[in-house]
Amino acid sequence: MTAERIVIVGADAAGMSAAHQALRTAEDRGRELEITVLDRGRHTSYSACGIPYWMAGDVDSGEDLVARTADEHRAAGINLRFEAEVTGVDVVDRRVTTAAGETHEYDQLVVATGAHPIVPAWALTADGAPYDRVGAVHTLDDGAAWLERFEAAEPGAHVVIVGAGYVGIEVAEAALRRGFGVTVLTRSRVMSSLEPEMSERVALALCDADAELVLDAEVTGFDVEDGQVVGVHWTGGSRPCDLVVLALGVLPSTGFLTGSGIPLGPKGALMPDPRGHVTERVWAAGDCCDSVRRLTGDRVYRPLGTHANKLGRAVGDNLAGGRLTFDGILETAITRFAAGGQYIEIARTGLSLEDAEAAAFDVVALVTEGTTTSGYMPDAEPIALWVMADRVTRRLLGVQVVGGHGAGKRIDAAAAVLWAGGSVDDLAWMDLSYAPPFSTAWEVLQVAARRVAERL
Ligand SMILES: Cc1cc2nc3c(=O)[nH]c(=O)nc-3n(C[C@H](O)[C@H](O)[C@H](O)COP(=O)(O)OP(=O)(O)OC[C@H]3O[C@@H](n4cnc5c(N)ncnc54)[C@H](O)[C@@H]3O)c2cc1C
Repeated sequence: MTAERIVIVGADAAGMSAAHQALRTAEDRGRELEITVLDRGRHTSYSACGIPYWMAGDVDSGEDLVARTADEHRAAGINLRFEAEVTGVDVVDRRVTTAAGETHEYDQLVVATGAHPIVPAWALTADGAPYDRVGAVHTLDDGAAWLERFEAAEPGAHVVIVGAGYVGIEVAEAALRRGFGVTVLTRSRVMSSLEPEMSERVALALCDADAELVLDAEVTGFDVEDGQVVGVHWTGGSRPCDLVVLALGVLPSTGFLTGSGIPLGPKGALMPDPRGHVTERVWAAGDCCDSVRRLTGDRVYRPLGTHANKLGRAVGDNLAGGRLTFDGILETAITRFAAGGQYIEIARTGLSLEDAEAAAFDVVALVTEGTTTSGYMPDAEPIALWVMADRVTRRLLGVQVVGGHGAGKRIDAAAAVLWAGGSVDDLAWMDLSYAPPFSTAWEVLQVAARRVAERL
């Protein structure tokens, strides 16, 4: 029996999940696979999610963020090749070409090339080169560069963070905890995937931690002296600074597929089905892909590690004859902001009000306030929950949480109800746990759901 040749492009979360699951399933089914993984970089299987905590000083070294080393992958039988950037795919002759001119033939191809950070023209020199003290936070190398910049910075240096999504907030935490002055600029509101009344709570925590926060700020350019950025300008303001973090989101890294005939969506993302299948003999997973929203069925680009791992695993299983599927996303996400004496956990799942209205749902949405534990416990902290349900079907449609210790992971109970297509009554009345150190007798998430149920 000849081994089936699998070529995987991209050696991080999605690609290596696919590779290892393919090996496991192939072993179970007695199939033989020859797996080659090509990556343009020199890192594999690391947690980009941990980089802000490395920058903050919580994690000692970049190596601690590596879940599995290149040697471990190779010992498992995977032919992992670094500095092998794929520049072209020929789906007719079934081969990929690298920048060095090598070709690799495949029986099945997996695209797991992730995404790259958005870097606007104003963030580059006139020659299109990056400035020394300006950059994104995306790869392990970026993390190392930021640690060097943080260590070289004078005490009292000022960091401007452009973008207030979860990466912007996490980096603001890191910079504040390092003792730097921090300005966060955002062209809309803080964490725009939250409702305005929830976003405001995050904004307040940032300000209370002594970060300067500028909303509706469109960056227009830098002040540069001797080739170094010394200030940032935006519509309506400017300020001197020493370092600038770009946290403006990412775009799928699929440029090398242009002209290959592999279909891409409007933002250039691949559009896999729940098995990760894209087109004949081509599979994909991770940040290079969009996802189907479970509640509405439309496709959206929500690049997250949790999706990359799940769809990557499903791809690997299917490559070896399995049937695993990752059946859509709820846009569940969580983070925290902990600096300057502030501590909040922030989480969301399901649709926003705007999305629900666009999908023609007739909704009721309410914010409920309470405490994370029974109010008489010494560690009780405020928590606010936004809950939205459909007036007609009573279906739960969205939940958001901002609050103290223990607030964030409450989102998972809400996500479980959403995943199962449950109602706001299910959330209000399901059998959740209770003891004073963990919640009030009527858990605040259930109080929030009950209030919405009563309004429907
Ligand atoms: C700072 C930060 C914090 C984050 N926090 C969270 C979090 O808390 N929770 C969460 O769910 N997600 C988080 N994420 C997102 C998460 O890290 C990504 O969703 C995940 O890494 C995606 O994995 P991937 O394998 O699809 O892509 P990547 O990790 O980007 O890997 C893609 C690989 O493909 C390689 N590659 C690209 N193009 C080519 C090519 N042409 N040829 C060969 N190789 C190529 C790249 O070198 C790279 O190694 C965070 C991301 C960042 C940057």
